[in-house]
Amino acid sequence: MRDEAIERGEERGASEAAGNPDAVLNPGDEAPPGAPSTGENLCRDCGGTGQRDGAACPTCGGTGRVIEAISAGP
Ligand SMILES: [Zn+2]
Repeated sequence: MRDEAIERGEERGASEAAGNPDAVLNPGDEAPPGAPSTGENLCRDCGGTGQRDGAACPTCGGTGRVIEAISAGP
């Protein structure tokens, strides 16, 4: 089994988290954790398993969850 932490660490240098340098967003995240009108949802690409094609899902970073905007109202 490969070390996922190493692969993610390399990508983290190119992270473009705007506003909050502490927030590390995955490609599937629409907002930083804790942002208003957002919520945690299962990653659609891996179905919440965090694994895809035998490796960590690139969309959710292997967490199986993504932060999505919650539409309040019509
Ligand atoms: Zn995923």
